[in-house]
Amino acid sequence: MRILIAGAGVAGLTTALSLHAAGLDDIRLVDAAPEIRPLGAGINLLPNAVRELADLGLDAAVSASAVSTTELVYFSRHGDVIWREPRGRAAGHRWPQLSVHRGRLQMVLLAAVQERLGGRCVRADARVTDFQVLPTGRVRVTLVHRTGGTTTTEADALVGADGIRSGVRRVLFPDEGPPVWQRQVVWRGIARIPPFADGRSMVVGGDSTWKVVAYPIAPQPDAAGLVETNWAVSRTFVPGEDVDRAGWDRVADPAKLLAALDGWVFGSLDVSALITAAKAPFEQAMVDRDPLPRWTFGPVTLVGDAAHAMCPMGSNGTTQAIVDARALASAVAGHPDVCTAFTAYERDRRDRMTLLQTCNRALGPEVVVAMADRSRSVTRPCPSASDPDHELAEVSRRYAELGGFDVATANAASRYSVRRRPRSTRPAGQQAAS
Ligand SMILES: Cc1cc2nc3c(=O)[nH]c(=O)nc-3n(C[C@H](O)[C@H](O)[C@H](O)COP(=O)(O)OP(=O)(O)OC[C@H]3O[C@@H](n4cnc5c(N)ncnc54)[C@H](O)[C@@H]3O)c2cc1C
Repeated sequence: MRILIAGAGVAGLTTALSLHAAGLDDIRLVDAAPEIRPLGAGINLLPNAVRELADLGLDAAVSASAVSTTELVYFSRHGDVIWREPRGRAAGHRWPQLSVHRGRLQMVLLAAVQERLGGRCVRADARVTDFQVLPTGRVRVTLVHRTGGTTTTEADALVGADGIRSGVRRVLFPDEGPPVWQRQVVWRGIARIPPFADGRSMVVGGDSTWKVVAYPIAPQPDAAGLVETNWAVSRTFVPGEDVDRAGWDRVADPAKLLAALDGWVFGSLDVSALITAAKAPFEQAMVDRDPLPRWTFGPVTLVGDAAHAMCPMGSNGTTQAIVDARALASAVAGHPDVCTAFTAYERDRRDRMTLLQTCNRALGPEVVVAMADRSRSVTRPCPSASDPDHELAEVSRRYAELGGFDVATANAASRYSVRRRPRSTRPAGQQAAS
């Protein structure tokens, strides 16, 4: 049975590896990019995603270029600690939380795909623009190339792992339109700065309008003692506020950020120094997708951002893409035909992702910064996770449970672990022998 995956990002590559681990060998990936290059900035892998990567034998390779995050500290814009909690192993997880460059993660996954599935299974410069499910149950997929030329290919199943502007999703929901702007603009950059906090901390600080997120993404400082640090600054616009979007979606002049955040210091992290040290910060609209009523249509389904792109709060985008991939492969391994398997995968994942998308639109766990700003002070000073009754502890606890990375859930063995054995899953349309 051939499975075609549209998109060789984290979701697509992990889906390929997971299907292979479940015993499928005929897997092909196509990606719209002219070549697969290590693009992007920092992302986080929560312990439940690292557990899944470990099951694929990839945790060591990913950890080698990542930071094992130890704590998450929220600050008010005035530099007071609002909330602090241990993360990953420091919080009692079996698996770490990893802060890593998206491109480096993607390259580790790509190398594993090429090693396990063969060097020719990933094809770049092939954008999925259309598909039809044929009367035989197979899927005929249209690919467009840089030259403008078009080719078609056939598979028994199609997985749309092609991100927030998914071509597969567009065919399934032709009237949906572009991603939805969430009244925020975000600037992202990478800077080399001296280590801050305990050297492996994630810091989030601000008020109801501006928010800064920073964390290191290289395991060691360089020869000059500077550490590669990912940062994002977001600004929220209230309804009715005039918004000039003309300068967005391009490399930004950091001057307006420096003016707005002048004097902001979070412990040992000087926000102006962080922004000034960044090369070419990028400014873009913060967008997500509305939850979908359905992901699966016979032998076609969606994973990762194509299924549930969410606002970047709480480090869940890449984590949930990895869990999707694992859930999908486990469903394929556990069902006699691919359509039933894709339906079971959706049943397992979609409701929870809908809740997470909705929660992230309301700022996810980072709402504590706005809560503290609104009340101007926190009810008790400098709470910590050792105070389980604090209202902020409740925010954190509920969000972890929703994302499946609370200690009890994430420390349990993976529900999606499948031992490799030759698979005979039937393609769509083929009935079980009676
Ligand atoms: C270039 C890039 C940089 C990013 N940088 C960051 C970052 O710095 N921080 C962050 O939090 N998130 C970033 N993201 C998003 C983040 O990777 C995802 O939110 C998360 O990892 C889930 O991954 P995904 O595989 O579902 O989607 P994506 O990572 O978006 O991967 C989708 C893949 O599909 C390909 N594709 C798109 N359309 C088609 C099509 N029609 N046919 C075939 N292939 C197609 C894309 O080229 C891409 O390789 C970035 C995404 C991309 C593509």
